[in-house]
Amino acid sequence: MTHSPDDSPDVDRMRRAWQAMEDTFREIADTIEEKKHERCPYRTAKDECTFRGGCVNKQRLGPGEYRCGGDHLLKRIPATENTG
Ligand code: SF4
Repeated sequence: MTHSPDDSPDVDRMRRAWQAMEDTFREIADTIEEKKHERCPYRTAKDECTFRGGCVNKQRLGPGEYRCGGDHLLKRIPATENTG
């Protein structure tokens, strides 16, 4: 009986490693999908706001400095009401 290169232990090991990596990335993607509804992506770890538009939760600290003072979810202020 002859073995093709695809049946070698190395190829099998590579397939299992690839599958494990795929499972890990799928798990990461699922977690991101869940978490994106829990926290605003513009909020930094230090509670700074990096969103350039208006948001009802945004609190001005100084020139160009804003902190997030809300419930972690972006609530846009319509451009017609955004005065700064
Ligand atoms: S919720 Fe609003 S204020 Fe807070 S980080 Fe997001 S955009 Fe900025």
